[in-house]
Amino acid sequence: MSSYDYDLLVIGSGPAGQRAAIQSAKLGKRTALVERKAVVGGMAINTGTIPSKTLREAVLYLSGYREREIYGESYKVKQKISMDDLLFRTEHVIRHEIDVVRSQLQRNGVEVLAAEAAFTDPHTLRLKFADGTGERAVSAANVVIATGTEATRDPALPFDGQNVFVCDDVLGLKRLPRTLAVIGGGVIGCEYASIFAALGVRVTLVDKLPRLLPFVDAEIVEALNYHLHESRMTLWLGETVSGVELMENGAGRHVKVQLASSKQIVAEKALYSIGRTGATGNLNLAAAGLMADERGRLKVDAQFRTPVPHIFAAGDVIGFPSLASTSMEQGRLAACHAFGIETNSVPALFPYGIYTIPEISYVGRNEEQLTQQNIPYEVGKANYREIARGQIIGDSIGMLKLLFHRETRELLGVHIIGESASELVHIGQAVLTYCGKIDYFINSVFNYPTLAECYKTAAFDGVNGLNG
Ligand SMILES: Cc1cc2nc3c(=O)[nH]c(=O)nc-3n(C[C@H](O)[C@H](O)[C@H](O)COP(=O)(O)OP(=O)(O)OC[C@H]3O[C@@H](n4cnc5c(N)ncnc54)[C@H](O)[C@@H]3O)c2cc1C
Repeated sequence: MSSYDYDLLVIGSGPAGQRAAIQSAKLGKRTALVERKAVVGGMAINTGTIPSKTLREAVLYLSGYREREIYGESYKVKQKISMDDLLFRTEHVIRHEIDVVRSQLQRNGVEVLAAEAAFTDPHTLRLKFADGTGERAVSAANVVIATGTEATRDPALPFDGQNVFVCDDVLGLKRLPRTLAVIGGGVIGCEYASIFAALGVRVTLVDKLPRLLPFVDAEIVEALNYHLHESRMTLWLGETVSGVELMENGAGRHVKVQLASSKQIVAEKALYSIGRTGATGNLNLAAAGLMADERGRLKVDAQFRTPVPHIFAAGDVIGFPSLASTSMEQGRLAACHAFGIETNSVPALFPYGIYTIPEISYVGRNEEQLTQQNIPYEVGKANYREIARGQIIGDSIGMLKLLFHRETRELLGVHIIGESASELVHIGQAVLTYCGKIDYFINSVFNYPTLAECYKTAAFDGVNGLNG
């Protein structure tokens, strides 16, 4: 047994930290997990992934959004939706998820320490306990830093958590606005913009790039733009924000967002969603011989090892792709590498889910990438409205698009917009992983009526395209 207090100490209880700690404990190692917040689960469970997806679900249900195609545009489950209505569902799910994580950590024998951790030397951390019981030094043979990120805040902006807020503040909003400015059209900005718009909030979204989500297939983004406009959202793209001011007008406190082009947005609230910064500022990294980059992130090698060999980092704190899904796997692998266990690496092919309304998901390459790479490809498409299940659920806007090699017929990419896109994509992911061909979908029988049938229809469409 080593002279350290623990074989592995994990900092942070988000997806990366949880999986690192559980993997280490499963290997029979003395493992502790330090979390500075009063509850475990990290940003993923408490303020980010789970709350935003549950809010979305609450909005879709209460606003009657999914049923409007069938029962008419004015259909609503509840006429006046309040923040309390949305929080009812969100708090229920968060409580349950926290409990699941806590029980998994307990069952596996991980010691959870409710404290903020900072290095005093490469193997020792000072823990400042959240309950005010003071400080204690602990030592560990190996450390995994899984401290995640914090929403980036421009210091010149008047953030008050209510009128000018970041996504980490959403659950603390006292009331829903009638009008909202969203500054930043990345994944989180687009998700929240479309969630608020589905509630009937008049949303104006500004981004300095000329198009939303530049890494997503252009045709899918075009379809998203169309639906955002349909939900009465204004998109000001290619515009720079030059100032944000709080102001009182006859109707109470408002926000004025000034654009460099002289345009102005006056709205009840403004959501600032311009990236996230690694939560490394309080770790005293210098004492461990480490340094973060200008965005607070840590560099690691393929084994998630920092330049100090016994210190690993995983999850959002190491940057791209900054997803809960990939963070879990990175954390697990970091713990394996700490104890010399051979593993695979995180697969290069992973799906991306964007929970806008409508939902987007993709895996593999898009048309722009294939064009740049000079790969001869063909496209096959299926619209949900052509599929019985699409009619049954009242989704007439969904679309699934397959990209495959014209000569080898190998599947190259799957791009979906519409209901359950982030679930459907996994069929394509499996075929892509095993280098399958478009013929797989043609020769398979799918449950009827399901959205999965879109794969078959899209495959026939694509193969027809080969013959002109
Ligand atoms: C609004 C929003 C929506 C998202 N939606 C999705 C989605 O749909 N799908 C998806 O895959 N991903 C989504 N993400 C991304 C996902 O939440 C992150 O990728 C994931 O949470 C990263 O996990 P992590 O373990 O690296 O860190 P986190 O979940 O950020 O957890 C880090 C933990 O470390 C703790 N900590 C920090 N410093 C210290 C310290 N010094 N001492 C002790 N504890 C410390 C923090 O308190 C925190 O609890 C979303 C993010 C946001 C913001």
